[in-house]
Amino acid sequence: MSDLRFKSVMEASTRKAVKVEKPEKRVEQYYAEKVFNRQKMFQYLPAKAYEALVDAIDNKKPLSREVADSVADGMKRWALDNGVTHYTHWFQPMTGGTAEKHDSFIDHDGKGSVIENFSGKLLVQQEPDASSFPNGGIRNTFEARGYSAWDISSPAFIVGTTLCIPTIFISYTGESLDYKTPFLKALNAVDKAATRVAKYFDPNVKHVISYLGWEQEYFLVDEALFAARPDLTMTGRTLMGHESAKNQQLEDHYFGSIPSRVEAFMLDLEIESHKLGIPVKTRHNEVAPNQFELAPIYEEANLANDHNLLIMTVMNEVARKHNFRVLFHEKPFAGVNGSGKHNNWSLGTDNGKQLFSPGKTPHDNLEFLVFLSNVMNAVHKHNALLKASIMSATNSHRLGANEAPPAIISMFLGSGVSGLLDSIEKNDYEAMKVQGKEGLTLGVSQIPEIFLDNTDRNRTSPFAFTGNRFEYRAVGSSANCATALIALNAAVAYELEDFADRVDARLKKGEQLEKALFAEARENILKSRPIHFDGNGYSDEWVVEAQDRGLDTESSAPLMFDAYLYDSSVEMFEKMGIFSKKELIARNEVKWEMYTKKVQIESRVLGDLAINHIIPAAVNYQGRLLDNLYKINQLFPTDKAQKIGNADYDSVEKISDHINQVRDLVKEMIENRKKANVIESQRDKAIAYHDSVAPLMEKIRYHIDHLELMVDNEIWPLPKYRELLFIR
Ligand code: ADP
Ligand code: MG
Repeated sequence: MSDLRFKSVMEASTRKAVKVEKPEKRVEQYYAEKVFNRQKMFQYLPAKAYEALVDAIDNKKPLSREVADSVADGMKRWALDNGVTHYTHWFQPMTGGTAEKHDSFIDHDGKGSVIENFSGKLLVQQEPDASSFPNGGIRNTFEARGYSAWDISSPAFIVGTTLCIPTIFISYTGESLDYKTPFLKALNAVDKAATRVAKYFDPNVKHVISYLGWEQEYFLVDEALFAARPDLTMTGRTLMGHESAKNQQLEDHYFGSIPSRVEAFMLDLEIESHKLGIPVKTRHNEVAPNQFELAPIYEEANLANDHNLLIMTVMNEVARKHNFRVLFHEKPFAGVNGSGKHNNWSLGTDNGKQLFSPGKTPHDNLEFLVFLSNVMNAVHKHNALLKASIMSATNSHRLGANEAPPAIISMFLGSGVSGLLDSIEKNDYEAMKVQGKEGLTLGVSQIPEIFLDNTDRNRTSPFAFTGNRFEYRAVGSSANCATALIALNAAVAYELEDFADRVDARLKKGEQLEKALFAEARENILKSRPIHFDGNGYSDEWVVEAQDRGLDTESSAPLMFDAYLYDSSVEMFEKMGIFSKKELIARNEVKWEMYTKKVQIESRVLGDLAINHIIPAAVNYQGRLLDNLYKINQLFPTDKAQKIGNADYDSVEKISDHINQVRDLVKEMIENRKKANVIESQRDKAIAYHDSVAPLMEKIRYHIDHLELMVDNEIWPLPKYRELLFIR
């Protein structure tokens, strides 16, 4: 075994099982202790400032300068009481993850010393040097200013000795440079539109809240093994590696007990998350070996998304304490399941009604039907856009890879809801018997009660109705959920506005309200029919059928991004006030650029590994075989030598064939990279990388994986799948 592989395997496999220590305190005693929540605000702010801040948060009002100063002062005192020395505006750049620039509280006191200062101005706004973030050409270099501004709906928190202030990040000219800004706009749009529609049923509704409950899947790999795999350290996934003899065939991991080292990590992670006010609740093994999942109780979507981004950072830190590394990549290992981040999404009114919950009365069911049918319409109309919104260089390896949602967006509704839709399609309202008191149940009494069967769950659907919410499963494990939820909430907002316009037009003509609602909901259902698919999303027939239904079946990520610039998308985003066309163009430039860079890095790492690690090992082994053959020929007569050395002759030939192929393919890949690199247009460059670089990586891998099977285990340089996936 190569020294590095040997050492790493020894180190990883001799780690001691750990005793999982229960926390000393009860969770209520430390929950949210690192969050400047209302309780801390109340404690640290003057009464007037507290009231003004709460009012601003609840009613989405701007903060006055005096209030901001007062809040900043209280926040600083709380932070100093908790040992904080620095503060940062924490934001979500388009490149993914989160970004921060730390400043300490110190300021000159005018007497040659310093004081710890933090003003409202610094709390509310900062100017990080934005030139180092790609912006798709929005910001010219002479205008490299970007502003970050406090998002008061997400509370400040402490990580280590730093006070983190969740912020939006925008350009000097007002275009968003992050995920949070458009996300907040989309949430506002859906609030406005859904409130308008919810008021038909309950005039007291003031707001509609969009909820998110994410389920984060991830892999854990021992740190020592991780360090011995340059592909994992540089790209987050293995670019080579033959399947191990055992992987997930026995399906013994999902229900297996959680290994003690992993459990200790999870417990530590839960404590840290709870201190940060992240309501983590569920943890379990996933399908693949060394794959796990973590899910909190759902929250208002903006906060839930901040919590997801924060927890990804916390996971990285806690994992290192336990000598693990977390893999968030969507497909770190070929041949076993990839990782997603299911987004459980729902809408609810401020007075506590879940809008995707079918009720017992026809009235409730009509409301359910109205909201459901608008989601169906939105997902149908924008199925290509929704797919683009979950697409990335990394998630493209997972989609359609047999155990993950296919690269086609469809909606699973289950037999209960399907039955309802069928009967509504068939029922012409006019033909329906009109009855009921004060017209309340007029006609709508024909809506059958919906029986939901909880076992009726289709795991192959990218977008499934699960009883009171939708589970958007296509979202990748490394993604910022905002990308998917901006598109979804915006598209649904647009449909709801359009729906309300149509209903209002009918009301103007004197039509009865419930009749109008029913008629337009039915219209939605008829129009969006092709999006509804309860069958097996993994089957080959589905691809053909989806094409017939006119659904988008493109599988090239760079081409999918085009959907952001379709007329229907631009119109929808502009009308909902979320993105201008200029922003959409700029953001797509970033998407293409990111795609290219990811594939480019992978291709370089693969080339290096192939030439510097794999071929030398293969040549070494080939040399040993040749030595052996030489000796056989020295000792035995030719015909006997031929016989004895038969298998080795064969191996030498096969190995040299693989070696030559790897060399040639790497050369070709480098040539293709060079050609792609000089392409001006980001879109065309990404397409070139997709079409001419990525496929060669697969071919190179094929030969390397075959070499792995032939070359003496002793000299194979990289930890193998059986080591990466089974040592824990
Ligand atoms: P499963 O793996 O069976 O899909 P989990 O329990 O792992 O379910 O995760 C379900 C997620 O859905 C949790 O985060 C949960 O809080 C969330 N959830 C439950 N109800 C809603 C709802 N109405 N809106 C949004 N999310 C919800
Ligand atoms: Mg789950």
